Amino acid sequence: MTIKENYEAILSEIPESTNVVVVTKYHTVEETLEAYEAGVRHFGENRVEGFLEKRAALPADAHVHFIGTLQSRKVKDISEHLEYLHSLERLSVAKKIENECAGPVKCFIQVNVSGEESKHGLHVDDVADFLESLKPYKKVQVVGLMTMAPHVDDEGEIESVFVKLKELSNRLALSNADNIQLKELSMGMSNDYHIAVRHGASFIRIGSKIMSKE
Ligand SMILES: *Cc1c(COP(=O)(O)O)cnc(C)c1O
Repeated sequence: MTIKENYEAILSEIPESTNVVVVTKYHTVEETLEAYEAGVRHFGENRVEGFLEKRAALPADAHVHFIGTLQSRKVKDISEHLEYLHSLERLSVAKKIENECAGPVKCFIQVNVSGEESKHGLHVDDVADFLESLKPYKKVQVVGLMTMAPHVDDEGEIESVFVKLKELSNRLALSNADNIQLKELSMGMSNDYHIAVRHGASFIRIGSKIMSKE
């Protein structure tokens, strides 16, 4: 299967309104450009080096999303190109965005719905206060919530994580501010995007299922 065939297979299974962020973190610039040629316009990278490398190689109409943990001291390294951040969970990063970035950055708040200790993201109960604390940072344009489901075979367990993120989003959407609008849900990866889409994912982040030519 080519990248194009993989990408089109996924597009055929999901609503047209769902954005597919193709995660290229384990792939070369050449393969990333192949994905661009196949029609991909949203790319995901989780490290500063890879982000800058792919950003430089891709045409201007491609969007490169930062999907990994971002240390506040590294914000300045990508400030010029930061458009979407899927992993906001610390005020220190918000402050750096406010001070270093030229324009607004679309941010997803990462939530650790399953409560696994190994996972990044805010505890469900801490999200409301965090959103409140972001209100003064006008360049931080919160567009929604993001989560990663646990690596388990039990589909019901995965599903409950996505349902809980959606419920949290609905609940907190009532307290919107100018720069806080919970409209999008970033959830679903290669193994569980079909479940995430059923529960309203508007951005799915797919790596291996599109980029691995198997
Ligand atoms: C790597 C990664 C993905 C994609 O994972 P696949 O299982 O390869 O689809 C999605 N989201 C994040 C945050 C990642 O780090």
